[in-house]
Amino acid sequence: MDFEPSAAAADYTNRMREFLEEKVLPAEPAYEAWRAERRGTPQEWDLPPVVEELKAQARSRGLWNLFLPSVSGLSNLDYAPVAEVSGWSPVIAPEAINCQAPDTGNMETLHLFATPRQKAQWLEPLLVGEIRSAFAMTEPDVASSDATNVRTTIRREGDEYVISGKKWWISGAADARCKIVIVMGKTDPDAPTHRQQSMVLVPRDTPGLEIKRHLPTFGYQDQHGHSELEFHDVRVPVENLLGEEGSGFAIAQARLGPGRIHHCMRLIGMAERAIDLMVRRARERVAFGRPLAGQGVVREQIAQSRIEIEQARLLVLKTAWLIDNAGARRAATEIAAIKAVCPRMACDVIDRAIQIHGGAGMSDDVPLAYFYVWARALRLADGPDEVHLRTVARQELGRH
Ligand SMILES: Cc1cc2nc3c(=O)[nH]c(=O)nc-3n(C[C@H](O)[C@H](O)[C@H](O)COP(=O)(O)OP(=O)(O)OC[C@H]3O[C@@H](n4cnc5c(N)ncnc54)[C@H](O)[C@@H]3O)c2cc1C
Repeated sequence: MDFEPSAAAADYTNRMREFLEEKVLPAEPAYEAWRAERRGTPQEWDLPPVVEELKAQARSRGLWNLFLPSVSGLSNLDYAPVAEVSGWSPVIAPEAINCQAPDTGNMETLHLFATPRQKAQWLEPLLVGEIRSAFAMTEPDVASSDATNVRTTIRREGDEYVISGKKWWISGAADARCKIVIVMGKTDPDAPTHRQQSMVLVPRDTPGLEIKRHLPTFGYQDQHGHSELEFHDVRVPVENLLGEEGSGFAIAQARLGPGRIHHCMRLIGMAERAIDLMVRRARERVAFGRPLAGQGVVREQIAQSRIEIEQARLLVLKTAWLIDNAGARRAATEIAAIKAVCPRMACDVIDRAIQIHGGAGMSDDVPLAYFYVWARALRLADGPDEVHLRTVARQELGRH
């Protein structure tokens, strides 16, 4: 395995780093101030104008859709350091370069499974950053870490599918630019367990699709939202089926693999920014007659953080290499492993950075509190830690 960046990867990473430093990090205060003014109002989920400006600038720099190998020409290993840099500003930078969840996973799904007509209608505007999208699998009434539990029904009636059920934690659905929701439900409850589910494309403005509320994460409302949806006999034409009936489970598996590795790459970037802030603070802040960095216990926390970041990055690079060389299916155990490792690693590093900042770490003067919330959410989103550990254990036990 060779993790030396290719010429293309080094070039894109340098350009991404320049874009981050010159444009994205300086835009963070304007983004925050714009949203703070609208907190608690119906405009809370509107997009701060600075993001569209950043999107235009990123595109003119060639930093666009880099996550999709068939469009960008970058391998997963090439993309890893670029995504890592975007993790330094996880709210703004991924969207600025059109590499944000859940759209990336949805674009990948459409790229793999959509018909030419579905691609023209939904994939094209997503690839140019005109619209946004959501992916609706999780349900409030069943343990959704086991996707076979999904209860939403997709019933065929003539030339239409009729969808009924509840979903929640549907990221992106609060944003008015979200025009399409990929919905997973059951078309045939009598089929074998993994052939009961299908996916359909539901335009967000379809009658009967009700947005009940937008859920906070530890009190934070993300701009694009995480929403609870109800489908009251929502009707879409049969042409809106993705793939074939009964392929929903397989599509979900294909979708989540690359999405998980992208989250992990960005988590490493978040952890890098946290250790950067930790070190700056430890060198500047003086307590008991010397900078915090002079205290052995603080040095240990810094060292521990550096070691954990390097370990996680190596595992992510190995996984990216495996996907490139053997395919996502052969890398399933490694993908599960990094999804269990990276959010916990980031939580631990960010937590130490908060501690070293003292009270400031809990404030919004530094981005650490929000970083912690997002890293913590990723111990659940795209599957909780335990489900990924189960995959790794199954593989390990199977060896003996
Ligand atoms: C911020 C955020 C964004 C999200 N975005 C989306 C989205 O866009 N679309 C979407 O469909 N979903 C989304 N989710 C939902 C997320 O994928 C689910 O919350 C997750 O899959 C767990 O499902 P659940 O909440 O039903 O938990 P449950 O399935 O009820 O599990 C609860 C807990 O049980 C334990 N557990 C479960 N299985 C096992 C096991 N096999 N062994 C041991 N312990 C186990 C784990 O501790 C787990 O956390 C999001 C969640 C969050 C927090």
